[in-house]
Amino acid sequence: MRAKCLLCDRIDRLSDDDPFTKKLKNRPIHTYTCPDCYDRIEKRTKERRANGHYHVPHRQENNL
Ligand SMILES: [Zn+2]
Repeated sequence: MRAKCLLCDRIDRLSDDDPFTKKLKNRPIHTYTCPDCYDRIEKRTKERRANGHYHVPHRQENNL
């Protein structure tokens, strides 16, 4: 089947035998992210974690 990337509108041809494609088909709305965008998102998520936004440092824990 063909899937259009949500983020960059690129159309990729996916193998129907691919488990990923089957998973995509089972969703009511076909949300597809091409590998390029997927990598970009993943990289950004990791960067955010590395930058410490994940842990909020010293947030007045004494007042709990
Ligand atoms: Zn894309």
